[in-house]
Amino acid sequence: MIVMKFGGTSVMDVEAVGRLARIVSRERRPRLVVVSALSGVTDALLDVARLAEAGDGAGARQAVRDLHRRHEGMAAIVRATPRRASLLAATDALFDELEAIVRALAVVEEVSPRSSDAIAAFGELASSRVVAAALEDAGLPSRWLDPRALLVTDAQHGAAVPDRETTDERLRSQVRPLLAEGLVPVVGGFVGATAGGLTTTLGRGGSDYSAALFGAGLEADEIQIWTDVDGMLTADPRMVAEPRVVPCLSFDEASELAYFGARVLHPSTILPAVGRGIPVRILNSHRPEAPGTLVTRSVGEGEGGPAAIACKRGLTRIDIASSRMLMAYGFLRRVFEVFERFRTPVDVVTTSEVSVSVTIDDRRGLDGIVAELSAFADVASEDGMAIVCAVGERLRTDARLATRVLGALEGLPLAMVSQGGSRKNITVVLRDADAPAAMERLHRRFFESEGASAGRAALAIA
Ligand code: ADP
Ligand code: ASP
Ligand code: MG
Repeated sequence: MIVMKFGGTSVMDVEAVGRLARIVSRERRPRLVVVSALSGVTDALLDVARLAEAGDGAGARQAVRDLHRRHEGMAAIVRATPRRASLLAATDALFDELEAIVRALAVVEEVSPRSSDAIAAFGELASSRVVAAALEDAGLPSRWLDPRALLVTDAQHGAAVPDRETTDERLRSQVRPLLAEGLVPVVGGFVGATAGGLTTTLGRGGSDYSAALFGAGLEADEIQIWTDVDGMLTADPRMVAEPRVVPCLSFDEASELAYFGARVLHPSTILPAVGRGIPVRILNSHRPEAPGTLVTRSVGEGEGGPAAIACKRGLTRIDIASSRMLMAYGFLRRVFEVFERFRTPVDVVTTSEVSVSVTIDDRRGLDGIVAELSAFADVASEDGMAIVCAVGERLRTDARLATRVLGALEGLPLAMVSQGGSRKNITVVLRDADAPAAMERLHRRFFESEGASAGRAALAIA
């Protein structure tokens, strides 16, 4: 079987859902369909939560009604009248429930992370209803599933951690039999629930992660991520004018790119796939005939340079110098314990004899972190930083590549340089304002010359 995940732009309107139905119909293998909220809906729902928290009940309810109308409009995809009526009834029930929740929260002017998840989940709950009805209408017997009955997580609202064992059990008992009957189950991504039944979410962009978790649990032959670009590109299309498609990537390369800013994959997506060696394919729902990007365990090294470059912006750098002027052992442990206490992930780390520099993305704990570190170190922090990194298996074996990467950045002040333990990336930290220039220069050097991507292309064909 395979898992087919469709992102927000691939379900954004009636035409998009029509394309989705054709793509799913053409597939002959048993398949589970995972969908995101219609594009923009999760953002709108989080705005609703903010309005409620600010006590603007009228504004929040109006925003809910606008979302209700947009989803009602989606019912036009369903031609058969009774089926359309039942889709509309399900949509009404969902948005009535949301309105009641929002009304109550606006009265108390408080939205906890738990309530915020309850609200954010409505996007996927509603879009999956539309898609299930559309597939039925296209002649594919399908079955809507509630993600809260499948994906079991802990209670870290907004970034819940899946309980793989329980989730796998549920997938086996609830999804396998449907596939065996020839039905196409449809489930919202991003959403789960605690064992006690509280709604949780996996974090922004988390539908990819849901798809991978479901794929791993069902031992899928392939996990397909359908989106609005032709695959993993050599760079973020918003930063580089003419990125190219990367035909194939290793799991490690894809993980590093996702982690360092290639939004086309949620950073946790590859993890469940790696465990069971399941290939992940990134495809364009607007151009289903395009080959996309295939991510597998290994791709060989091929010729040429990095596979792709990525960029993560708006970061903070923290420089931490041991005040004892000696890198006593235990210093690093104490440093990282502070980040752990504040649940703040660190992106890049560089160390010298007496100091450590790190970058963080989540600034919420910054003041506390600086205060605690200051007890045993001299600390300075700087906002407005960015990570730019080149990723590729080749970097491990071809020592000249790192030099060429740094050479391309000549003249730009680099605050940190790191190669990571895997040596499959070279990462620099620089001022955010310099990030676009750095990306352009790297892209020109490695991907825009004649035959630049020939190595990868040859690998994909082989
Ligand atoms: P979806 O709604 O399908 O999940 P996303 O918006 O999350 O789609 O991800 C797709 C977007 O990721 C693309 O439209 C593109 O702008 C962005 N992106 C950033 N870096 C890359 C990259 N290296 N390759 C492809 N897309 C990228
Ligand atoms: N709808 C969620 C978001 O916008 C999850 C996803 O689309 O992957 O973050
Ligand atoms: Mg996404």
